[in-house]
Amino acid sequence: MRNRQTELRIAIVGGGIGGMAAAGFLHQAGLTATVHEQAAALTEVGAGLVAAPNAVRLLRALGIAEPALSRAVPLDWGWEFRRWQDGTVLSAERLDSACERLYGERTYTIHRAHLLDALRSVVPERAVRLGARCTAVEPHGDGARLSFADGTSADADVVIGADGMHSLVRRAVAEPTRPRFAGLCAFRTVVPAAAAPAFALRPAQTLWLGPGRHFVHYPVSGGREVNVVAFAPAGEEAEESWSATARTEEFRAEFDGWDGRVTDLINAGSAPGRWALLDRPPLPRWSHGGITLLGDAAHPMFPFYGQGAAQAMEDAAVLARCLSATPEDPPYALTRYEAARIDRTTRLQQASHARSEDNHLPDGPAQRARDLSLADADPLVRSGWIYGYDATAVSV
Ligand SMILES: Cc1cc2nc3c(=O)[nH]c(=O)nc-3n(C[C@H](O)[C@H](O)[C@H](O)COP(=O)(O)OP(=O)(O)OC[C@H]3O[C@@H](n4cnc5c(N)ncnc54)[C@H](O)[C@@H]3O)c2cc1C
Repeated sequence: MRNRQTELRIAIVGGGIGGMAAAGFLHQAGLTATVHEQAAALTEVGAGLVAAPNAVRLLRALGIAEPALSRAVPLDWGWEFRRWQDGTVLSAERLDSACERLYGERTYTIHRAHLLDALRSVVPERAVRLGARCTAVEPHGDGARLSFADGTSADADVVIGADGMHSLVRRAVAEPTRPRFAGLCAFRTVVPAAAAPAFALRPAQTLWLGPGRHFVHYPVSGGREVNVVAFAPAGEEAEESWSATARTEEFRAEFDGWDGRVTDLINAGSAPGRWALLDRPPLPRWSHGGITLLGDAAHPMFPFYGQGAAQAMEDAAVLARCLSATPEDPPYALTRYEAARIDRTTRLQQASHARSEDNHLPDGPAQRARDLSLADADPLVRSGWIYGYDATAVSV
């Protein structure tokens, strides 16, 4: 057991949304942590994400709700499901005042870069090392030694792997496995508001469901752009021949025959990005001694619940609380952290996985039953277990 007075040396591998949130919460708790990020500059790929009340609550707890949300779009409608052929509304989640009344916060769409900027603003400059690609994490004394591609090394009492889906740190706590290719790809494009159909500028997250595919859009950047992300079968060879870009014609061909509003958006968008969706089953444990994981490194999930970044931030908040409660015994703190978080993130991983079947049913009896059940339930209440969670208050 460590002396409580000695400062804990905490190393965070990865400066994405999860790593930066962890650094922010740890500094707020009076602990110092260094973020080691491989990129030479902090950037976020992609455009938007949906920040539901469980994420917004954490921005408020960090004192950055104002800067993070100043360029966000508050949504009046959350999950608005529509039929692929003609846009028939299958169900619509009314958010505005109901969301605030039930969960104390609204739901927003945020540009990922704006979210990362806001998180970075609460982490001291000296606590972020850029261009630091971690190449190994090995047990060393009571803690671990990190090695970096530039030949440097660092010792730490606690190592937090916030290094994403292909996590290197994960190998120190679990059997090394490669993520499985899920057979789906995601197209992503951004449409300037001036070129977007008025329909897509409404403060709504719209999801069009069709056989084997679904198509999502919502406004971001204070309504100046529309973020589009769509999922389609990837074909057999996608893993080997993957490229990060696609042509608009390829994107349009995947949604041929869909409601004209969908194809209008595809046509108005910039050259789309395209990438493979990868899959990993839930891990039975995330921590070993003084080493642990958070965010996508611990529990990557399909993006169909829009909760990956939110879960990374929740992990960060709970982890900081556990480490500040027992800094003299990091392995105990990490065990408490994992125990507090793993059931929830496993449930979300599984629920997101199930939605890849549900969202892509071929037209027929199962699709009609799904559409009826979407219409029956009150989505805002049904999502209570997700939105109502407060990572700053759950017992740890
Ligand atoms: C299409 C799509 C839509 C999504 N929509 C939403 C949404 O609406 N709402 C939501 O909450 N979530 C959403 N997500 C999920 C969310 O984007 C991720 O879950 C989240 O970004 C994970 O954050 P992270 O910090 O754990 O990992 P990452 O964002 O992957 O960050 C990992 C960081 O670690 C760094 N790194 C990796 N290896 C090393 C190394 N060896 N050394 C040093 N640094 C390293 C990387 O450079 C990177 O900066 C979506 C995801 C996708 C794909």
